[in-house]
Amino acid sequence: MSQLSFDFPQEMIIFVGNVINTTVRHCWWTHNGMACNIPVQRQHFNAHLRDFHGINSHEVPYQCLWYGCSAQPMQKPSLERHVKEVHIPAVWACPHCLETFTRKNTLQIHLNERCQGMGH
Ligand SMILES: [Zn+2]
Ligand SMILES: [Zn+2]
Ligand SMILES: [Zn+2]
Repeated sequence: MSQLSFDFPQEMIIFVGNVINTTVRHCWWTHNGMACNIPVQRQHFNAHLRDFHGINSHEVPYQCLWYGCSAQPMQKPSLERHVKEVHIPAVWACPHCLETFTRKNTLQIHLNERCQGMGH
C-alpha cells in the first residue's frame, strides 16, 4: 500500500461526487388504477419500462402513467429522461463520508461546508 495524498483545489472538490445508479426505486407506473410497485434499480428503469409497460417504439409518443403525473405525451427518449429526472431522481453520495443526498446542489454544499470525512 502506498500512501498517496491529494490536495485538490477548492474548484475541483466542488465537483467530486458519485451518482448512485444502483439505488432501487419502486415503479409507480399505473395500469387500471393499480401501481406497478415493482422495485427496480435506477439504471435498469429503461429496460423495465420497455418490458413491463410497453415503452418500445420510437415512433409514437407515450403518456407518462406514473402515479399522479400529468405530463404531456412524449417520445421514448424524452419519456425515459422524464421518468429519471422527475420520478426517480438521482441519489448523490459524498465520496468522503458516504452520506447520501437527493440533490447534487446539497452534496456540493455538504462538501464545501459540512463534510467531516476529510482530514478530521
Ligand atoms: Zn413498473
Ligand atoms: Zn411523469
Ligand atoms: Zn461527506
